[in-house]
Amino acid sequence: EFVEFNKFFNRIIDRFEMSKSQNVTFSRFIPDTSYFVEIDTDKLTQVIDNIISNALKYSPDGGNIRFGCTVQDNMLKVMISDDGMGIPKENVNRIFERFYRVDRARSRAMGGTGLGLAIAKDMIEAHGGKIWAESEEGVGTTIFFTLPFELDEAGDWE
Ligand code: ATP
Ligand code: MG
Repeated sequence: EFVEFNKFFNRIIDRFEMSKSQNVTFSRFIPDTSYFVEIDTDKLTQVIDNIISNALKYSPDGGNIRFGCTVQDNMLKVMISDDGMGIPKENVNRIFERFYRVDRARSRAMGGTGLGLAIAKDMIEAHGGKIWAESEEGVGTTIFFTLPFELDEAGDWE
């Protein structure tokens, strides 16, 4: 499907913002410029749902989750950033491995299988993008991913 990423992303964020029960605020840094992407919308929804669920899972009471998108090196760059407990430096790249969870005890209490980000990595790479994390313990985590995009609706895909 050929969709306007900004609208697609905002709709997913809206759904979480309307249904969340935690005391967490959302901030959006999503420009009005239309970025068109050729994506499997069900799969990308699953990817973004998992990243936002993780951000909410690890957000403290009163936390803030930031959503952004920019263009860098001819790719659309999306970021989702939280004020959670963060991930130790030596583990930050391992969160994309199947079944990997930073702290077994803590993760068990949180529920889930540890597959969410491994699936996200497969899906983003299948769309021609990359996914990575930056995190600081006690400060927060940011997940970034990139996607190829077009500025013109009648782009190369027509
Ligand atoms: P699932 O997504 O399958 O329900 P999960 O959330 O544990 O389970 P992933 O989404 O793959 O699995 O995340 C892997 C691990 O990375 C998590 O268990 C957690 O330890 C760590 N992690 C992911 N996102 C964050 C985050 N925003 N803040 C802190 N730790 C995180
Ligand atoms: Mg998850």
